[in-house]
Amino acid sequence: MKKMAMKQTIIRAGLETLYFSGAYQMMRPFVAGVGAILTLHHVRPARPEQFQPNRLLEITPQFLDEVLIELRRSELDLVSLDEMHRRLVEGDFRRRFVCITIDDGYRDTLQWAYPILRRHQAPFTLYIPTSFPDGVGELWWLVPEAVVARNDAIDVCLGGQNVGGQHETLSCASVAEKRDAFDRLYVWLRSLTSEAELRSAVRDLAARYQVDIAAFCNELCMRWDELATLATDPLVTIGAHTVNHVMLAKVSEELARTEMDMSRTAIECALGFRPAHLSYPVGDRTSASAREFRIANELGFKTAVTTRPGVLFGTHRDCLMSLPRISLNGEHQQLRYVRVLLSGAATAMWNGFRRVDAA
Ligand SMILES: [Zn+2]
Repeated sequence: MKKMAMKQTIIRAGLETLYFSGAYQMMRPFVAGVGAILTLHHVRPARPEQFQPNRLLEITPQFLDEVLIELRRSELDLVSLDEMHRRLVEGDFRRRFVCITIDDGYRDTLQWAYPILRRHQAPFTLYIPTSFPDGVGELWWLVPEAVVARNDAIDVCLGGQNVGGQHETLSCASVAEKRDAFDRLYVWLRSLTSEAELRSAVRDLAARYQVDIAAFCNELCMRWDELATLATDPLVTIGAHTVNHVMLAKVSEELARTEMDMSRTAIECALGFRPAHLSYPVGDRTSASAREFRIANELGFKTAVTTRPGVLFGTHRDCLMSLPRISLNGEHQQLRYVRVLLSGAATAMWNGFRRVDAA
């Protein structure tokens, strides 16, 4: 079994063990914290393809509905980010709370997620990289998927042409080969030290295998008029997610600051209000850390979220620029996993029982 499949299996085994042993219920009083922020990307019906390497980024409308029913049953408050901020700052923890956040602004948010969220009267935040509704966004992670899906073999130079990398042919005829080839490509792309190198490697792949990067944005992302429709609903908060969806830690400080600041201005120009909340693209440790947290603070954002896994504790009032989230992962669409995740037990174990991670 290869690296990424292995990772999903380990996550699932951990969640199952915590659930069926009942350990998550014993741990809950100590690790549940005061609330949690959930992360979603795509919400759309399951697709039949065997090869879906980005499936962790999508859940079905049915699963979203089940999660919301469960949250309402659990007597958790579903709150907006502004309300979360108030509770953290004022120390108002009488009731546990959950915030729902959706990254990237895909059209399926409007088509599939929004009707369900509205039916449950669930406030939610949409984090928008402004190049996406502008129609010029590069959804680069879909390029290796498309290249591998549409070809039986691909030529790559995974070390990089200028640093003595070896050319090799990755065979990707069967589904298993496609998964391996994608994993190798993806791990390599993410290992590149600058965003510029990553983008140029992706553009090179797209050009050599006739993948139209621009088409993904047009096909999948909401435009400004659709966002404007959503933004009129008081349930909806619009947050910033940079302009070009860059991994901020992989660009210069000046560019990182511009990306965060300009996205706020672009949303203000298009929708008429200035977003107060930020989500760091990709959002893991390689994409956002101390420097980015400082810049977000200097720019005056009220809160900023990462994708570091975790629930919220009272002490997060002191690190509002590095809030953890819990991803509703498309590979693990089971209510029992959501119960374990919201209990704080799984993330407490992943984080070595460290509550706050703001470095
Ligand atoms: Zn994103």
